Amino acid sequence: MPSTPPDDQETFAAITHEILAFRDAREWAQFHTPRNLAAAVAIEVSELQETMLWKTDAEVQSDLKDPTRRVRMRHEVADVLIYALLFAHAIGADPVEAIREKLASNNAKYPVDKARGSALKYTELPRATDAQT
Ligand SMILES: [Mg+2]
Repeated sequence: MPSTPPDDQETFAAITHEILAFRDAREWAQFHTPRNLAAAVAIEVSELQETMLWKTDAEVQSDLKDPTRRVRMRHEVADVLIYALLFAHAIGADPVEAIREKLASNNAKYPVDKARGSALKYTELPRATDAQT
């Protein structure tokens, strides 16, 4: 019997519930203001970056084959995601709706025909009027 794809919002809601239960059992909600949670996201991103600091892309690819180093990276990205979900919860944002809203915005800013294969920021992409000049 083929499996059905998971409901995105149910998955996000379920994991957010688990994170909130972990937090509330420790009475840490008092520290979880939006400002503190945004700082925590940034700090955890730094910890993720630290796992790759001073390494070449080839060395990072090699690290990804090492189970111990891979677990460390996985744990750091989990920290980033946990704080991002806590931040979304703190500001009353549904993470799935927020992501879809931002994808729609990015889609408008980065049309496929203009952005495909380009690393340019949307403000630097050729505009329709530029093509005529
Ligand atoms: Mg961490």
